[in-house]
Amino acid sequence: MANEKKLVEAITSMEEDFAQWYTDVVKKAELIDYASVRGCMILRPNGYAIWENIQKVLDAKFKETGVENVYMPLLIPESLLQREKDHVEGFAPEVAWVTQGGLEPLTEKLCIRPTSETLFCDFYSNIIQSHRDLPKVYNQWCSVVRWEKTTRPFLRTMEFLWQEGHTAHATAIEAEERTVQMLNIYADFCENYLAIPMVKGRKTDKEKFAGAHATYTIEALMHDGKALQSGTSHNFGDGFAKAFNIQYTDKENKLQYVHQTSWGLTTRIIGAIIMVHGDNSGLVLPPMIAPTQVMVVPIAQHKEGVLDKAYELKKTLESNFRVKVDDSDKSPGWKFSEQEMRGIPVRIELGPKDIEANQAVIVRRDTREKIIVSFDELEVKLDEILKTMQKEMLERARTHRDAHTYVATNFEEFKDTIQNKPGFVKAMWCGDVACEDKIKEETSATSRCMPFEQEEVAKTCVCCGKPAKSMVYWGKAY
Ligand code: AMP
Ligand code: ZN
Repeated sequence: MANEKKLVEAITSMEEDFAQWYTDVVKKAELIDYASVRGCMILRPNGYAIWENIQKVLDAKFKETGVENVYMPLLIPESLLQREKDHVEGFAPEVAWVTQGGLEPLTEKLCIRPTSETLFCDFYSNIIQSHRDLPKVYNQWCSVVRWEKTTRPFLRTMEFLWQEGHTAHATAIEAEERTVQMLNIYADFCENYLAIPMVKGRKTDKEKFAGAHATYTIEALMHDGKALQSGTSHNFGDGFAKAFNIQYTDKENKLQYVHQTSWGLTTRIIGAIIMVHGDNSGLVLPPMIAPTQVMVVPIAQHKEGVLDKAYELKKTLESNFRVKVDDSDKSPGWKFSEQEMRGIPVRIELGPKDIEANQAVIVRRDTREKIIVSFDELEVKLDEILKTMQKEMLERARTHRDAHTYVATNFEEFKDTIQNKPGFVKAMWCGDVACEDKIKEETSATSRCMPFEQEEVAKTCVCCGKPAKSMVYWGKAY
């Protein structure tokens, strides 16, 4: 018992110190380990398997819409990065450089991709000539490097895994449609698979991507009331096309610039899963994305027939569920704690008495509800329980977010809310960056997005009192 207690005690409670709780969970659930380079992480099997599932689902959804995967080089020549002015200025402080090859200094520095717009643009300028070459809807799964000052596992790492989609279209309308389409895919994926509700909207000019004409974002609220930008989709208009000379001849044989988009979702989203669903016993994974959905825990496994029955259950369940048996020589209590720490959605407790009674006990990770189920109904019940859990996790997250979304109509109210009530604040904005700057300076809250679903919560800007142009979600963010 002493040891079992230790496993649980080893994580700080989230009420006491949320940041420490988060660090404890990522370590104790064995999602990551720290690497020898600051700000980099080792993704362990438990963590990488979540990413693999995310990849699998998203990749299939992308392909349904005509996306094709490619792979671009890791290194970008300095001259290429310099080509688009806003882009290079935006990324300059975060870029890592290779200056030497073997023993010789390089004549031209090479940057490690912080994102691959410039590579795709250069490539597109070579392969796009005619309207028949359009659209190009390419994506790559890779890692990128950004020299971040402060880092947290998953949320902000110097190297992170992601996908980056890069598309080229004949018309501005088509590019805009693709930008919104991909944002919707991200939002639907997060809601349906990760059980995380998203606010969809447009970034202000201050917060938009370097070189973009418009940036759309999905924003989530974490358990501690902080916001997390969880994925972005950019419409570049023809800005990059002009800088990289990506032109095609249209049907009238006239030269036209293409219109481009890019969109990315990273390992940061795993941080969101942890901070939206986790509790003081560790991780809680939504069944749809959990690498292991069911852990069968034999009780008194030395007794005859127990392990055999456990393996038999695994065999029957395997065709419809991702299931494992914990047949290690640890005590059942220890196994329960471990299953809870790792966020495995349900465990099936199975002892000699259960076997005799032709039943098992299913325990839900999120509510800890115990459900006695006869072996004959196990598959049906399990399916039901996992679906209910998935649905209720989303509902709980949405209830939490809505309960932590406030409205402010003047600056005093705004400051008071940001300071005392962690969460989103909905407030009107005049569109002037000076107000955004002032809000950030005085409250450290940033504009998260101008939601697609606009509401008029007041007539005037929450900061300066001038007539308002849009409603903005504000919040302190990771
Ligand atoms: P961007 O290319 O800047 O639009 O970034 C795409 C997405 O990557 C953002 O929406 C963030 O969710 C995520 N992101 C940005 N920086 C990091 C980082 N250092 N570590 C992990 N994810 C990141
Ligand atoms: Zn204002």
